[in-house]
Amino acid sequence: MTGNRVVAKLLRFKGLRVVDFWFEGLHNFVVLVTPHKNGCQCPECGRRGTIIRVMPEPRWWRDIPVCGWTVWLQHCPREIWCPTHGRVVEDIPWAGRFARVTYRFEYAMLKYCQIMTQKAAAQLLHIPRSTLSDLLHRTITRIRDGHRIRGLKTLGVDEISYAKGHKYATLVYDLDRSCVVWVGQGKKRETIDVFFNQVLSDYQKKQIRWACCDMSDAFMGAIKAHCPNATLVLDRFHIVKALNAAVDEVRKEQWRLAGGEQRQALKGRRRPLYRPSSTRSRKDTCTLKALDKGNRRIYRAWQLKDEFEQFWEYKAPWAAERFIRQWMTSALRSRLEPMRKFVNTLRQHYDGVLAFVGSRLTNAIAEGLNRIIKIVKNRASGFRTLDAFTDMIFLTVGDVDIPARIPARFRTL
Ligand SMILES: [Zn+2]
Repeated sequence: MTGNRVVAKLLRFKGLRVVDFWFEGLHNFVVLVTPHKNGCQCPECGRRGTIIRVMPEPRWWRDIPVCGWTVWLQHCPREIWCPTHGRVVEDIPWAGRFARVTYRFEYAMLKYCQIMTQKAAAQLLHIPRSTLSDLLHRTITRIRDGHRIRGLKTLGVDEISYAKGHKYATLVYDLDRSCVVWVGQGKKRETIDVFFNQVLSDYQKKQIRWACCDMSDAFMGAIKAHCPNATLVLDRFHIVKALNAAVDEVRKEQWRLAGGEQRQALKGRRRPLYRPSSTRSRKDTCTLKALDKGNRRIYRAWQLKDEFEQFWEYKAPWAAERFIRQWMTSALRSRLEPMRKFVNTLRQHYDGVLAFVGSRLTNAIAEGLNRIIKIVKNRASGFRTLDAFTDMIFLTVGDVDIPARIPARFRTL
């Protein structure tokens, strides 16, 4: 076996032939290559062309490092004459058209960035951190370019903060396939309108059957305006959150009114109050029941909260409706101001709340995806720009498996 063949086999080169190789300095290993079968293929149609000239300057491509050596591919591309496309530069099979790195390198970069910080990935790949994020952005943009959302039937909308100082991004999820399909800056109506107006076609909007979001007017209004066939379901967890906030409001009010001794009795009640009955320990239930004699108002609020849990168990819409009407009456009778406010919110979004019973749709999948996104965010210690954050979201929980878009024969690590 000749030296060239050993290098080709060792580095698992496919679709190219090694012509020569040499070492430069302490870190660089340069391999002079040509495309397989002498190349000269048209990048548009793949047909063989006739060589017009060899470019005077060689081009360089960075490959994945091997044993501490930075591997470079070098090749002088040739200009060829294609019968259909005329004068073109020959196709480079191992890299994208204007790329300075090989497909293999891109694949390694994408795979590394999915599981580790960009800083660590940059170290492994022997490139500066800033170069890596530029490259990552360019690669992901190229792969996602021209991608259309397909088969979106169940849609979820939620917001997430990506930097300090109330910077929010709106995420749109496909809840059937549990992935993120779109990211936009801000959490206002304008943001979500961009998604409906620019990303989805009229046909796609009509195809949406279910939509799940929190109680923000921006999201609800946009869904109602753009998706004629969608049933809006309010997210269960956001409703529970609002109810918990109301109970907490009652507790705080009582805390303010209470004197020293009474305050002592109220201490340590906050957490058990929040807990749903299914995860509450017996001891917590006892302390809460003791409130019956200690503080009637908190006790009543807690009772109402516990009763409301039953709503999520109903299967028949008519039964659920009967229940919620009764519950609202008793909440209003409690004369607790925060609870009355909650009832008002329920009334406002009555259809959205009841729609849960028929669909059993929640944003739980979206919350799960948000958890992954938060891990990515914390791992990177936050993102300065939304672009960088969007890249990572699409790479980890996006609707396209981005590394899988690199041609299979280049997926060696
Ligand atoms: Zn051609």
